[in-house]
Amino acid sequence: MNGEMSRRGVLGLGVAAAAASAVTKASAADRPVGFAVVGLGKLSLGQIIPGFANCRSASLAALVSGHPDKANRIAAEHKLAAASVYSYDNFDRIAADPRIEVVYIVLPNFMHREYTVRALKAGKHVLCEKPMATTVADAEAMVAAAKAANRKLMIAYRCHYEPLNLYGMRLMRKGALGKPRLVVTNMGRQADLSDPSDAWRLDMRESGGGALADMGIYGINASRYLLNEEPLEVRARAQTDKRDPRFRTVEDLITWEFRFPSGALSTNCTSFNQAATMAWEVYGERGKMIAEPGCLYGGNRLSLNGVPGEDQPKIREIDQFAREMDWLADVVRARAPMVSPGEEGLQDMRLIHAILESAARDGAPVRTDYGYRRTVDPAVAVKA
Ligand code: NDP
Repeated sequence: MNGEMSRRGVLGLGVAAAAASAVTKASAADRPVGFAVVGLGKLSLGQIIPGFANCRSASLAALVSGHPDKANRIAAEHKLAAASVYSYDNFDRIAADPRIEVVYIVLPNFMHREYTVRALKAGKHVLCEKPMATTVADAEAMVAAAKAANRKLMIAYRCHYEPLNLYGMRLMRKGALGKPRLVVTNMGRQADLSDPSDAWRLDMRESGGGALADMGIYGINASRYLLNEEPLEVRARAQTDKRDPRFRTVEDLITWEFRFPSGALSTNCTSFNQAATMAWEVYGERGKMIAEPGCLYGGNRLSLNGVPGEDQPKIREIDQFAREMDWLADVVRARAPMVSPGEEGLQDMRLIHAILESAARDGAPVRTDYGYRRTVDPAVAVKA
């Protein structure tokens, strides 16, 4: 082979290799992002696993469970190979499974830290259910672990991606109600100690705060994303009948008031002993909007009053779980910004603990300016 042929040959091979590599890169970018779902309880079986059917960027790749019979049955239903089923003991083997890019933690709250850190150490991105953890220290450790692993950690705040809440956020950003004065939230229901899904929610160590950690967190988060600012101070009160076996370790009815830098206040309530409610309201100087229900999986309704130019909106129903899984898949593929990172979950953990501290001190004010500021406003980032 003369020099010219040799050079052309090498160049030719180089072009072919570059083309092949471009194809590989393009197909890798187009490939759905594989999710492992950890913990096959009510939420996983009822919403998350069915939700993959409505995803465009995310796909179900593996299951992690303490019950192999259940996991194998669900794997077969979703045409997953037997090798895609993991237990808590052999969970760390996911590191060698390239089909898994994201691990979705759908375990009781007290297990979130351990499985998030193990998944990050295995080189995977993590989607972790709310509340992020049971303690501030655990939430801080999770944020640090994601940084150390250089992986994404997203908290599953589905309302950040839901059309009604996004519509409300956009009206607030436009100043459509005038200067915001008051946000009111109420998130609660009846808890049932005989339901295993509620038993751990009624245990302080396992839930990190009963109704407040389970449902009140939606009110904490809504007042922050509606006003797009962080509270300076909280005062809280709890009212709990300790003779009720449900409330041996957690509080029942908790109310709290946040004071925000703009001068707006939010008054909030949560309870595990009240009629089911997931509602928020905003009162501005000129207009008001009421979302009742505002944070359910579907059927949310928004009514507006005194908001010129805005009709009563018709909100499109979406699969909120598919939307947030797709969102993280797009973050992983560098097609979308991170909207609800670990730091957002950590801020709510700090606020939960400030509320509990104030309630324990009979409403004494607790300072809450922890320095957290959102880097991406969900209202701007998401096209609903
Ligand atoms: P469940 O109690 O119904 O399910 C939890 C699953 O975790 C169990 O079925 C079990 O799955 C596994 N598990 C492993 N160890 C334990 C243990 N020691 N005790 C109990 N369960 C264990 O909980 P949910 O599905 O209702 O909630 C899971 C998470 O999702 C929570 O963090 C909750 O806050 C959050 N959530 C979020 C919602 C949202 O709208 N974003 C709505 C509902 C819940 P297996 O048998 O496969 O091992």
